[in-house]
Amino acid sequence: MQTHRQWPRSAYNNRMQIKRSKAVGTIVAVALLGWAGWQANQSRKVPLERALNPMFWVRHLRGEDQYDPQTALLEHGSPKYREVALTIDDGPDPNLGPPIAAYLKANGVAATFFLVGTRVRQYPQVARLLARDGFELGNHTYDHQRLPGLKPHEIANEIRLCDRDVFQATGRHLNLLRPPGVQYDDKTLQAARALGYVTVSWTAGARDYETQPPQWIADRVLRRTEPGSIILLHQDSPSTLAALPRIVNGLRGQGYSFVTVSQMLAHLGVRRQNTN
Ligand SMILES: [Zn+2]
Repeated sequence: MQTHRQWPRSAYNNRMQIKRSKAVGTIVAVALLGWAGWQANQSRKVPLERALNPMFWVRHLRGEDQYDPQTALLEHGSPKYREVALTIDDGPDPNLGPPIAAYLKANGVAATFFLVGTRVRQYPQVARLLARDGFELGNHTYDHQRLPGLKPHEIANEIRLCDRDVFQATGRHLNLLRPPGVQYDDKTLQAARALGYVTVSWTAGARDYETQPPQWIADRVLRRTEPGSIILLHQDSPSTLAALPRIVNGLRGQGYSFVTVSQMLAHLGVRRQNTN
């Protein structure tokens, strides 16, 4: 009777197996890189060097890239809530601030306006209008300098002077900082935190500071929004005002609600002083 003979594994077979597993490894790595690149492009502000760093994705999957209490940096709202924060930088703008506020107020849209101290001094009545209409106000520094290039005491001055100007115009103190250009380093975060501030990054940029048609801006925002997104718009661009109805109706149509940055922080369980 003939039995099947068990052939010993030859060196050739071993080599083929190693080659095969290397090929599988390469395919998995390429797929992961492709996925990371897609994520970076589609929905979040993830610089490529972060997207390629496995630790970034470990933090992301653990939900540690939402709010970091060590640095008081807010990068993303809670993905458990179908809500977004509309943040509008660079005001007060005398021409576009009032109609943007009027549209948002008429449609019951919560928003956070990050104001520049020197512009608040120029247009205090627009700052007052935003405060009176119930919008949240944030600090966008005294004169819009890039903070990482400054010394710690200069950073503190940029924050304090903006707060002073907003307080003089509206009677409100601030505790949310949007660094100009969203450029920050450890020194910036520590200076802001020492003054009781949360530094607010963003996840969905509209690129509305470029001369883009309103529909392009709105479609870009709608494409990049996910639960907990922080949307960045600017107050001094006519295209932004024209894009707002499409953004607001589009997101509401997808079941999103609008919250202030403070409400977003509360949903992440961040306890802080409320000055607004
Ligand atoms: Zn700005």
